[in-house]
Amino acid sequence: MKYSLRTKLTLTYILVAAVCVFLISIISNIYLDKYFQDYIIKSQAKKNNEIVTLITQQYDESGNWNIYSIQSIGINALENGRIIKVQDVDGRVIWDAMRYNTVMCHSMMASVEYNMYSRYPNWEGEYVKDSYPIVHNGDTVGTIEIVYYGPFYYTESDLEFINTLNQVFIGVGVISLLLAIAIGAVISRNISRPITKVIDRALLISQGHYSSRSNEESDTKEINELINSINDLAHNLESQERLRKQLTADVAHELRTPLATLQSHMEAMIDGIWEPDSERLKSCHDEILRLNRLVGDLDKLAKYESGVLTLDKTEFDLKDLVVRVAANFEKEFINKNIQLELKLNDQIISADRDKISQMIVNLVSNALKYTKSGGKVIIELTGDKNKAELAITDSGIGISQEDLPYIFERFYRADKSRNRMTGGAGIGLTITKAIVEAHKGAIEVESEINVGTKFKVTLPKNNE
Ligand code: ADP
Repeated sequence: MKYSLRTKLTLTYILVAAVCVFLISIISNIYLDKYFQDYIIKSQAKKNNEIVTLITQQYDESGNWNIYSIQSIGINALENGRIIKVQDVDGRVIWDAMRYNTVMCHSMMASVEYNMYSRYPNWEGEYVKDSYPIVHNGDTVGTIEIVYYGPFYYTESDLEFINTLNQVFIGVGVISLLLAIAIGAVISRNISRPITKVIDRALLISQGHYSSRSNEESDTKEINELINSINDLAHNLESQERLRKQLTADVAHELRTPLATLQSHMEAMIDGIWEPDSERLKSCHDEILRLNRLVGDLDKLAKYESGVLTLDKTEFDLKDLVVRVAANFEKEFINKNIQLELKLNDQIISADRDKISQMIVNLVSNALKYTKSGGKVIIELTGDKNKAELAITDSGIGISQEDLPYIFERFYRADKSRNRMTGGAGIGLTITKAIVEAHKGAIEVESEINVGTKFKVTLPKNNE
C-alpha cells in the first residue's frame, strides 16, 4: 500500500501529537494524584486537630461540657466524613455520632466508599480510628475518637475538583489533536505541493518537453535544490537535444558533397561516359579517404562535445609536451620549408596531458597547414605562478575578420573549397576550444589576411 507524502506527513503529525498528549496526560495524572493525595492527607490531619481543639474548648472550668456546641461540631464533622465520639475521663459518652444518627453515619460511610471506588476501582481502604486526649489545664478530662476512611478519602468537592482537572486535560488533548491535524495538513500541503509540481515537470520532461521549466519556489532548502536540479536536467537535455539535431544536420551536410562526387564519378564510369582509368579511380579514392577522415573527426567530436569532458589530471611541464609535439611535426615543417621557432619557459601545470597534447597538435597542424612554403611558425610558452600562456604564431594566409568569430564552431571553414582540399572538416578548433574550456582556460585568436594568425591559450595552473 502506497501513501501520498501529504497523507504520510499529516498522519505523522497526528501520531506525534497523540503520543505527546497521551504521555503528558499520563504523567500529569500520576503527579497530580500523588500531590493531591499528600495534600488531602495533610489537610485531613489538620482538620482532625482543629476538631480536637474545638471540642476541648467546650469543656469549662466547672467541669461541664457544652453538649450543644459539641453536637454541632460533630454534625459538621460527620458531613465531612468523620464519625466522632466524645467521652469523659470516666468513659461516659458525652456525644456519639453513631448514637446521634446511625443512618446518616452509614450513608456517609457508603458515600465515601463509593467516591473512592469510583476514582480507584481497586482501592483497598479501611476505616481508621484515631484517639485524642482532651487536655484541660494540663489534666486529661476525656478522649475524642475520630473514625474516618483511611489512609485518606475524597469528599464530593475533592472528586469534583479532580474530575474538572481531568476534563481540562481531555479538552486540551482534543484541542491539541485538532490543531495537529490542521497544522499537519497545512504544512504537509506546503511541502508536498512543490514536489507534486516538480513531478509533473519531470513527467513532461520525460515525454520530451525539454523546454518545460519549474518556477515553483519553496522555503525548504532540499525542495529548492530538487527544483533547481530538475531545471538543470531539463536544460542539459534541451541542449543535448539541440546538439544532436545540429550534429545530424551538419553531418548530413558534410557527407553530401563527397558522396555526390563519388556518385557522379561512379555513374559516369558505369554509363561508359568515363573510362575507369587510374586517375579517376584515384579521385574516387581521395573522396573515400576524405569520408574516412570525416568519420574519424566525428568520432573525436562526439567524445569532446558530449558536454562533460572528464579530465585525467596530472602535474607535468608543459614545455616538455610542446617540445615533443613539435618534434613529431619537425619532418613536415622541413618538407614544406617552414621555419619552426620555439621560445619556451618551464611551466608546471595540472592538466589532462593527452587532451592538452591533442590541443597543441590541432593548433600546430593548422599553423603548418595554412602557412605557405618559406613561412615561419613561432611557439612561445610563458606564464606566472597562476597561469601558463601558450602562443602559436604563423605567417600564413590569415583569417578574414568576417570569419574570425566563427572559426571555433563545428564544421566551420574559412574558405570552404580550399580547406576541403587541405583535408580539414572544421572540427579541430571546436575540439581545441572544448579542451581549453574543460581546463577552465581561455583561447583567443588574432589574424590578418596574408600576414598571419596568432592563437593564444591561457591555462590556469591549478584549476581544481
Ligand atoms: P580544419 O580541420 O578545417 O582546419 P579547424 O577547426 O581546425 O578545422 O579550423 C577551422 C577553420 O579556421 C579552418 O578551416 C581555417 O579556415 C581556419 N584556420 C584555423 N587555423 C588557421 C590558421 N592558423 N591560419 C589560417 N586559418 C586558420
